[in-house]
Amino acid sequence: MINILIIDKERMVRQLLGEALDGAEYHTEATSNVADGLELLKQKKFDILLIDLKMPEVKTDKVLEKINQQQNDISIIALVPYSSVNLAIKVLSEKKIFDYITKPFNIKELEMILRRAMDRQNLLHQVGERDLYQEMATVDGLTAVYNRRHLDEILPHEIERAKRYRQPLSLLMIDIDDFKKYNDTYGHPAGDKLLKALCQLLLGALRTTDMVFRYGGEEFVVLLLHTFKQEAFEVAKRLLNLEKQELPITVSIGLSHLLDDGVLSKDDLIEQVDKALYQAKQSGKNQICLYSEETG
Ligand code: GH3
Ligand code: MG
Ligand code: MG
Repeated sequence: MINILIIDKERMVRQLLGEALDGAEYHTEATSNVADGLELLKQKKFDILLIDLKMPEVKTDKVLEKINQQQNDISIIALVPYSSVNLAIKVLSEKKIFDYITKPFNIKELEMILRRAMDRQNLLHQVGERDLYQEMATVDGLTAVYNRRHLDEILPHEIERAKRYRQPLSLLMIDIDDFKKYNDTYGHPAGDKLLKALCQLLLGALRTTDMVFRYGGEEFVVLLLHTFKQEAFEVAKRLLNLEKQELPITVSIGLSHLLDDGVLSKDDLIEQVDKALYQAKQSGKNQICLYSEETG
């Protein structure tokens, strides 16, 4: 059972969320003010906190920091009116929340965020419940990051969401350089171990809203939500350097991003990131290439 605490001053919101979520999977409790919420958090373990970001105490009183310190494995999801999306993005980039959703919310979208929050917690705990992951059929058996099927499933939704909120979204595709040679030299089991180490490194280096997928044998996709092309390039540079430092391999990285006009589909984005990766390989590996219209 996943325990969710709701802190929102609007009775309608508390009621709607309770009705929509309470059931076999989720158990919700709700308070109308921050003080009561903090008290409940002390008494009981919650997995997820849904909190109205517009409450004056939340804005002024460093409440989010306090909660994160008190319960470092809780995922905070902010509730904001559409007009306050920028506030949500600010606290998101300060890593104070896991994600946000705008009011009035779409329950399907909220469930998607909740699922992602729980997946992330499970991954971090590495609970050794591999069977559970397998059942979910969203996670790769070897590396425990998401699998390609899950990318195919969620990417269209995330693109829709990015377009609706006018948010940027970037995609990285990472392929290990000369991995065949690595396998030939050190053996397949050593290769497997390296794939796992690479994923741990990626998960450790990325933000909570970033998602890692095993796209093929030694190819990984990183989905960067709320991230502009330039920021994504910085992330890619960091990853490229980290890998060089920490692992006995280099990688090539392709980068594509959702354009402002938002006409791209999931398939376009994947095709572009794949082309960019191909270019990085062609240009000598161990580097990042951005997809551009001209070079196609
Ligand atoms: P490039 O720099 O062009 O990417 O060269 P590469 O040798 O990495 O070539 P490519 O990406 O085409 O080959 C992928 C190799 O990765 C083939 C296979 O030996 C290895 N590989 C794929 N999946 C696994 C796996 O699950 N475990 C191990 N150990 N190796 C794998
Ligand atoms: Mg490959
Ligand atoms: Mg390769």
